[in-house]
Amino acid sequence: MGHWCRICGHSKPNEQFTGKGHRNHICKQCSKKPKADILKVEQTEEIYRFLSQSNISAKNIKRLVELCASNDAEVAQLASIVLEVARIKPGKKRRLKVLARERGDLLDQMRETGLIFAHHH
Ligand SMILES: [Zn+2]
Repeated sequence: MGHWCRICGHSKPNEQFTGKGHRNHICKQCSKKPKADILKVEQTEEIYRFLSQSNISAKNIKRLVELCASNDAEVAQLASIVLEVARIKPGKKRRLKVLARERGDLLDQMRETGLIFAHHH
């Protein structure tokens, strides 16, 4: 029986996880990665999750504003796209229709970054 690592996305044998790594779902190899790399994976997941929710709450928006200030350019970019989406249409229902009508550019950015898949999730 293996165990799944949420950072590299691989399923690895149990001996590839330390006690703590097991709980955190991070394999030995990935736990050696710089903190910034691990944080990036976590924050990217967080941003994608917001889009898959039926509603992006005011609390989520606050968090997105924080993530927009990330030192990681990719994280900051994803956060800024989702933040704009949330401000236009926090609810998932009819979101793509509204964006297509009002903000085609934002919809294009969602397609380019793959964020659109999170919406369909
Ligand atoms: Zn790993």
